[in-house]
Amino acid sequence: MDFASDNASGASDRVMAALVHANKGFAPAYGADAATKEAEARLGALFERECAVFLLATGTASNALALASFTPPWGAIFCHQDAHVMDDECGAPEFYSAGAKLVGLSGSDGKIDAQSFDAALEAYPRGLVKQVQPAVLTLSQATESGTLYSLDEIAAFGARAHDAGLAVHMDGARFANSIAALGCTPAQMTWRAGVDVLSLGASKNGAIACEAVVFFDSSHAHDFVYRRKRAGHTLSKSRFLATQMNAWLEDDHWLDLTRHANSCAAQLEAGLRNAGARIVWPRHVNEVFAVVPRAADVALKEAGARYYEWPSRALAPEQAPREGEVFVRLVCSFATDPADVARFVAICAQITKG
Ligand SMILES: *Cc1c(COP(=O)(O)O)cnc(C)c1O
Repeated sequence: MDFASDNASGASDRVMAALVHANKGFAPAYGADAATKEAEARLGALFERECAVFLLATGTASNALALASFTPPWGAIFCHQDAHVMDDECGAPEFYSAGAKLVGLSGSDGKIDAQSFDAALEAYPRGLVKQVQPAVLTLSQATESGTLYSLDEIAAFGARAHDAGLAVHMDGARFANSIAALGCTPAQMTWRAGVDVLSLGASKNGAIACEAVVFFDSSHAHDFVYRRKRAGHTLSKSRFLATQMNAWLEDDHWLDLTRHANSCAAQLEAGLRNAGARIVWPRHVNEVFAVVPRAADVALKEAGARYYEWPSRALAPEQAPREGEVFVRLVCSFATDPADVARFVAICAQITKG
């Protein structure tokens, strides 16, 4: 019953088998190999256009280097106040952009509110010498609250940002979960809605460590090879990154993996609701955020369940845990066993229903 994170799981059998196969023989280093060319072609086909694609090993490097490609050191990067770039990347976006400022925006359910973006654009006017200059808007899809922006919402942010002369970045650590949940095409959720650059994560969905930065207009990518190398993220044995990506994309394996993760989370959500737990944010992908009785938390942990208690500062006051309650995050992955979900729910129900 491990619901700690989607990166607590290993790699999928298909990805692992592909790596074992790729391990045989020799291949040119630094991305000149056939597997890397294949990954570039596969991603181009997936997004239905020519794009500039770069493989990296972590989401933090992908986000930081993608953002740095669109901001001067005196730029402003607008993000949700609870975004991964803000809270979980140890200052990497600021570091790799040589000092750009992250500006946190408010909004419920982990989503940036359109008014708060407008207010930020007013607060950071272009040409005001004493202020950082608006450069990038970054949206997490899915968000850190496990919620999704609709295609219309992304397109509205895209249009507003472009009108104001900003680029749009998407943090897609859970891109696959989002596509599976929305049932749209990767093109619809990105460049057709105004996204200029995407951090596409495979690590949380069945790879060992594989992320791609995808530029939808390659003219923005002319210096990315140098940024990536300077950051120490140019893997000499690029074929192992590319092999993960290729195996992940082949036969829609990536969608099968994330559909399983999302459906386990739906099962968990329904079961917990039925057991009387409060689901605080809408469950859109593979994460369930729930307020459960402390006694259930104790019983679950005694039974060996793993998950994190989650900070409640992002909750509306009426949603916050009361005396004797705990706020937890439960994450399902491609490797989650539905039987574990059922057991988890049963333990919870035993406490709440006696
Ligand atoms: C996990 C995650 C990342 C990537 O994190 P790394 O640990 O650097 O690979 C980026 N953004 C979001 C929203 C995430 O959840």
